[in-house]
Amino acid sequence: MERYSKITEKTKREIVLLKGFPCAWGKCRFCDYTDDNSRNEKEMIQLNREVLSHVTGEFGVLEVINSGSCFELPKETLEDIRRVVQEKNIKRLFFEAHWIYRNRLNEMRAFFRIPITFKTGVETFDNAFREEYLYKHAPFRDAAEAAKYFDSACLMVGIKGQTKEMIKRDIALLKEHFQHGTVSVFTDNTTDVKRDEELIRWFLQEYSYLKDDPNVDVLYENTDFGVGD
Ligand code: SF4
Repeated sequence: MERYSKITEKTKREIVLLKGFPCAWGKCRFCDYTDDNSRNEKEMIQLNREVLSHVTGEFGVLEVINSGSCFELPKETLEDIRRVVQEKNIKRLFFEAHWIYRNRLNEMRAFFRIPITFKTGVETFDNAFREEYLYKHAPFRDAAEAAKYFDSACLMVGIKGQTKEMIKRDIALLKEHFQHGTVSVFTDNTTDVKRDEELIRWFLQEYSYLKDDPNVDVLYENTDFGVGD
């Protein structure tokens, strides 16, 4: 499992995949990465410290992900991240948080005292597909409401049941409301959510221009950020 990498395109940054406590929601239908969650705090702190020791600060930007939200990282790991931020002169952090933490984002901002780009898993702005099929438990009314809290939306494309119209609308809303976004092409995993190959072929052709959009990261594979397995 790779846990440290560098993203050298678009917003250049280092990225670490740390271990956290179980995702507080943990029921998204398409998700099996909570397998990386742990309850062994001591072990997590040690592993995370080792991973963080690779950070050089060369881009001044660090993205920290875990299989859940940054609020599920051990307190000592947050302190270790803050130490790395200070020692390596990091100017901006990228963190992820689920909608349920939307009213706590300022706690992190106050703790780190540097700008944080908060990403959140939107998956789709189609409320029925997101809530009733994907069980995302992120019941914001619309993109504008999600953007009141978060800077960056993560979308998922190419799931059986999604339509071209849904994807067109999702990308349009992402660009209209968010300064940054991530679009992940769905990869089959151990869940019953499945890839739609035809829809993905259409997306790759229709939205090939996104690879030149400096504010949208497109992940064709789960591991395109260089972390994970
Ligand atoms: S919030 Fe994230 S980690 Fe938690 S179940 Fe959903 S996709 Fe998985």
